[in-house]
Amino acid sequence: MAPPSAIEVLPATDTSTFTIPDRLTIRHIAKRRAASGKLIAGVAAAADVGAFKGRTHHVHKPLAKRWDHRLTDEAKTRGGSSLKEAAKFLKQPGLISLGGGLPSSEYFPIEEMSFEVPNLNSATGERHAVLSVGKHDMAHGTSDYDLATALQYGQGHGSAQLLRFLVEHTELVHNPPYSDWSCTMTVGSTSAFDMAIRMFAKPGDWIISEEYTFPAMVETAAPMGVRMDEGGMLADSLDEVLRTWDEQARGGKKPVLLYTVPTGQNPTGSTQSLQRRKEIYAVAQKHDLYILEDEPYYFLQMQPYTGPNAPDVPPPASHEDFLLSLVPSYLSLDVDGRVMRMDSFSKVIAPGTRVGWITASEQICKRYSVHADLSTQSPSGVSQMMLFKILEEQWGHGGFLDWLLHIRMEYTARRNVILDACEQFLPKDVVSWKAPKAGMFLWLCVAWEKHPDYLSKTLVEIEDELFHANMRHGTLLMKGSWFCPDKEVDTGKMFFRATYAAAPLDQIREAVRRFGESLREAFGLVTLADSGA
Ligand code: PLP
Repeated sequence: MAPPSAIEVLPATDTSTFTIPDRLTIRHIAKRRAASGKLIAGVAAAADVGAFKGRTHHVHKPLAKRWDHRLTDEAKTRGGSSLKEAAKFLKQPGLISLGGGLPSSEYFPIEEMSFEVPNLNSATGERHAVLSVGKHDMAHGTSDYDLATALQYGQGHGSAQLLRFLVEHTELVHNPPYSDWSCTMTVGSTSAFDMAIRMFAKPGDWIISEEYTFPAMVETAAPMGVRMDEGGMLADSLDEVLRTWDEQARGGKKPVLLYTVPTGQNPTGSTQSLQRRKEIYAVAQKHDLYILEDEPYYFLQMQPYTGPNAPDVPPPASHEDFLLSLVPSYLSLDVDGRVMRMDSFSKVIAPGTRVGWITASEQICKRYSVHADLSTQSPSGVSQMMLFKILEEQWGHGGFLDWLLHIRMEYTARRNVILDACEQFLPKDVVSWKAPKAGMFLWLCVAWEKHPDYLSKTLVEIEDELFHANMRHGTLLMKGSWFCPDKEVDTGKMFFRATYAAAPLDQIREAVRRFGESLREAFGLVTLADSGA
């Protein structure tokens, strides 16, 4: 069977056909917090996610399916850390602990930290705010989190203080349609994927992914003996791959895991429409697949591209409009609890925070955090504390949405610059592209069958020559073949991946111009200078 094409980009307008029911509002969060009282979470405190979700808000929803039949023996038998369990006794008033091997905060050589952040929608007009944290702010009653707690050992699920914000944010954006959903923090999605593979896959198993995918995930799975197949994310094609799976020929059992990057996919930049997500979810139900939804680019959904020199499309007018403009996630469609959604701060705050979170059923989150207790322990306390200060104490939920909206408009401007430059500088008879609706990548398809050496050289050879020709012209683009999950599959197509995430705008234009010249030279086309353009 020919490999299916990369996932399609469909108009974002279909998001209007689906409103996430009963979505939590920012006002409701404030009420819920007022009702639940002050959060008191000291050293290594266990978090009560049920309380963060509101005790009664989800009871009308069905329970998640159990996944005992999918979990590996390793995941099922891991009992957890007995020493972390003992931490729950620390909150007993008057207790003198001679228990855990926790160093005294007296010996943490950091008394205070401060850092500056953007001050969003400030009433005073100040553009920046300086946030400070001391060692004993909790004891002094000036904050719910301090250095003595943040720099101490913590629970695998992360600090209750930050986790509460993440649970609320998840409900605000996705409102999962089953009752026993939960969240637990990760040290980023790369690690979350690694841990998920150990929970769900054994050596020799296959995972289904997009035709081209994020190489780190393939490289993570491969040494565990787990391979990825380019099942494609067209629902029909996915169904066919699974229906016709030949264990003998494939040398492995029918896949039970689906790994997908539905929004602003890396590397293709494509975004699955709501309709596509529903169809794929139905295929997952039919074949009882568990879905790993990897969404670092979810909030990099941009304004529509209207063409060169066209006026900018104004941003969503309110938080409500902003949330409605986002394609609903798999998590928000997940009536069975068959999705582990991986969120990450890497692309919306900073990759070096190494903080993210998963949302899945309580059963899966529990298995995950028990594993974290015994491996990563928890995300860095310094990172958690910084995120808490920014998100909880400075911005709040509304401010975080404002920040995400700001990022959306920044990426829209960058994406428009690269697309305008492509229109102006690239030879359209040998290279084509689609305007990405989300993320940070532009996927450039090169018509290599028009290359002068097409009959005498392989795709890989010509791709390599073009890669080096680009370098000689002073522009670096990633080879498409680096993103093929199964290196033995010949897709027959040639791509280069460009990112508009970081280079200054004028340099993005210049890099595209150089790429155009490099292609013209390689394909024996008239250069722009010679054409007088
Ligand atoms: N998933 C995808 C699809 C990515 O493209 C990336 C980074 O490029 C990551 C995950 C990495 O996420 P994290 O920094 O949270 O590990």
